[in-house]
Amino acid sequence: SMTQTGWNLKHSYQLLPEHFYAKVEPTPVKNPACVVFNDDLATELGLPDDSKQHPEIWSGNELPDGADPIAQAYAGHQFGQFTMLGDGRAVLLGEQVTNKGRRFDIQLKGSGRTPFSRRGDGRAGLAPMLREYMISESMYGLGIPTNRSLAVTTTGEHIQREIEIPGAVLTRVSSSHLRVGTFQYAAGLGDVDALRLLADYAIQRHYPEVAGDENRYAAFYEKVVERQAALIAKWQLTGFIHGVMNTDNMAISGETFDYGPCAFMDVYHPETVFSSIDAQGRYAYQNQPPIGQWNLARLAEALIPILDDEEESAVETAQEILSRYGSYFQTYWVNGMRNKLGFLSEESQDRALMDDLLDIMKKQEADYTNTFRALTLDRPEELPMYHSVAFSSWYDQWKKRLERQEQPLHLAFETMKKANPAIIPRNHRVEEALEAVIQEDDYSVMHQLMEQLKNPYAYSDAQVDYTQPPEPSDQPYRTYCGT
Ligand code: AMP
Ligand code: MG
Ligand code: MG
Repeated sequence: SMTQTGWNLKHSYQLLPEHFYAKVEPTPVKNPACVVFNDDLATELGLPDDSKQHPEIWSGNELPDGADPIAQAYAGHQFGQFTMLGDGRAVLLGEQVTNKGRRFDIQLKGSGRTPFSRRGDGRAGLAPMLREYMISESMYGLGIPTNRSLAVTTTGEHIQREIEIPGAVLTRVSSSHLRVGTFQYAAGLGDVDALRLLADYAIQRHYPEVAGDENRYAAFYEKVVERQAALIAKWQLTGFIHGVMNTDNMAISGETFDYGPCAFMDVYHPETVFSSIDAQGRYAYQNQPPIGQWNLARLAEALIPILDDEEESAVETAQEILSRYGSYFQTYWVNGMRNKLGFLSEESQDRALMDDLLDIMKKQEADYTNTFRALTLDRPEELPMYHSVAFSSWYDQWKKRLERQEQPLHLAFETMKKANPAIIPRNHRVEEALEAVIQEDDYSVMHQLMEQLKNPYAYSDAQVDYTQPPEPSDQPYRTYCGT
């Protein structure tokens, strides 16, 4: 039978023991207005057709049918330091189950204080929430697993940061908000039964295929390890820098989430860092793969009590699984890079061609996205490094490599087109869109940008303008957390 269009909120997370959450209502705001609304996503979720016309819901002033809001408890290693945390400025309204049976967390971010707020005000700023909306929806368009953004709602209130800024609430949609830190929280409580319940819950929600395994917790752990390796490989291949890969920001589902200080790289450099607080470069571009492994080791530690009755065997099992992270990552990365370079067959020197190109790009300070775009269009002459000896010799080798494979050249270029986005949400274009909103209350710049980022692989004329790298600047681009 046809399911009616509308709210269908469930609360399976609340079947976990009570210390995994706190019941908390959003704090009402003065004058809510929906400034951005994702119609496609609302339709996918089966929400009522007039959802956009209800800013009172997206601000938290009124609850939709069936909502039962909570803040989730979790812990996490933040820049290496273990802390007990929780949603300090977000509430989960519930899990919307679609008529296809898919389940999505609907969360309001910036909805007011919770028992986990510590000294924070529970609020969020308009520009940072619009930024999260733009980057997360761009990730979706790029085909990178991610949570999504449904709405940005202004509050009619100002919040105090370094200066006063307009406040907003972001509606986030995730396949769940379970994170490595949720397991660390359970382990931190020393409650093994709760840990087991949590693991079974995560299996049921994200990895039902391992539920019948002899050691389902080990199988679950391996699934998470593999999915993170796959995710981080995609980040590397696209030049995405998350910026705050704390264990509370690593989702068990393998989706990218917590879009604070993240940004895409323009010029290729492995040491690129954008986050203003990451002085040591812990979360630099090149560190993302090893940090992924570090975080997964923290997950293993949390899971030890349920991996085996004997601690020694549990540790051994965890180590064995984690030791495969590197080869999972390599496989995903190399396969992704094969597609980016149009390699449809396998040759022994393929890896060297990949590494050589990256090395030349680094020395030539080449734009990451535009390099692969020019190769995809077979217009190398558009690249500033075209006349460099190193690049032109690499280019000849690469061209011969493509001509040697038995698959026709046009197939190689078609593959490349699907693997190399023509555009990314470049920092200067994102900033320009935010400035138009904040200075002129003009959302058109953002809408035009987002229209193109829905399909970054289109290679359409309308996208050409967005391929321009930023003007050279002596000020490095900086991003911020918690704004
Ligand atoms: P993040 O660095 O975004 O992962 O946030 C770390 C922790 O700080 C989380 O528990 C957040 O809920 C909390 N937090 C961030 N900003 C605020 C705020 N303005 N008010 C309360 N809690 C916050
Ligand atoms: Mg977080
Ligand atoms: Mg955050």
